[in-house]
Amino acid sequence: MSFTYLKPMPAPEAIKVQFPLTKEGAAIKAKRDKEVSDIITGNDDRFLVIIGPCSADREDAVLEYIEKLSKVAEKIEDRVVVVPRIYTNKPRTTGEGYKGIASQPDPNGEPDMVAGLVAMRQMHLRAIHEFGLSAADEMLYPENWGYVEDLLSYVAIGARSVEDQHHRLTVSGFDVASGMKNPTSGDFSVMLNSVYAAQHPHHFVFSGHEVETSGNPLAHTILRGAVSKHGNSTQNYHYEDILRLAEMYEEMDIVNPATVIDVNHSNSGKQFKEQIRIVHEVMHNRSFTSDIRKLVKGVMIESYLVEGNQKISDNQVYGQSITDACIGWEDTERLLYEIAEKA
Ligand code: PEP
Ligand code: MN
Repeated sequence: MSFTYLKPMPAPEAIKVQFPLTKEGAAIKAKRDKEVSDIITGNDDRFLVIIGPCSADREDAVLEYIEKLSKVAEKIEDRVVVVPRIYTNKPRTTGEGYKGIASQPDPNGEPDMVAGLVAMRQMHLRAIHEFGLSAADEMLYPENWGYVEDLLSYVAIGARSVEDQHHRLTVSGFDVASGMKNPTSGDFSVMLNSVYAAQHPHHFVFSGHEVETSGNPLAHTILRGAVSKHGNSTQNYHYEDILRLAEMYEEMDIVNPATVIDVNHSNSGKQFKEQIRIVHEVMHNRSFTSDIRKLVKGVMIESYLVEGNQKISDNQVYGQSITDACIGWEDTERLLYEIAEKA
């Protein structure tokens, strides 16, 4: 029962100097940050689609996916802002299993945290430099922020982290749109308290420093469904759920009321094909009531080159998820055009 200190981690500045964002890249990110932020604040009425694999497990397949995505994103940019999911850190319910490229650059190999940081940064860099798409990532380990803070246009705090004080306080210092998911229990008040905390200034210890944050007015909610006490999935993307969220938002001192519907996870009950139907229901509900249209700013979709998922031990199918099952590219392309028509 002890820690074995293997090696010190490089400082964020050291990794950034080694793998720098170009000036053009920084301009792309700044433009996209503003687009996403304007959607959250209501200054831009386009629809936000955060889409990509559950885990960004290999650079070649993820970048091939993002190349395809970039072509569609350009065609629908008048109605939709597309943000790829490049999820480099995976929360594990029991702590076992693949923890993302930032921990295991080779999913079948040993953990290597320094190589993982490089792999994480490289993938985000390439998405911006080669395809003009700054991405979304989950900030599972808040200390990772320094390594990617110049690259991300969207941050999510996962269902298992949203109740944690360190995560909430860290988000209060982020300068990009940050989605706080409902916890696996489904409790909206936990999620809204988390948004409240993230929107306000704090004074705490971060990355070996005593810090103060300004509060992040772009912190908002993500509905991902819940798990009941009997262990089955319960959905929270329906009309009534959104109305309830709108009412609860009104009772709190929170700016920029906004939500993104995660259509996989407990909302689909991990029946990945259901994501398509759920997106259509969300679009329909938005067209039905202006209050819902205003509150629901976007969707989060799990999608990769090949539909479904595979066991990590097999890991033979290029572009197929080794974590949650995803819709495949053909369905994805069709769905994006359908979203653009209804947005
Ligand atoms: C995910 O987005 O892949 C994820 C793990 O989400 P959640 O935190 O909602 O389970
Ligand atoms: Mn997932």
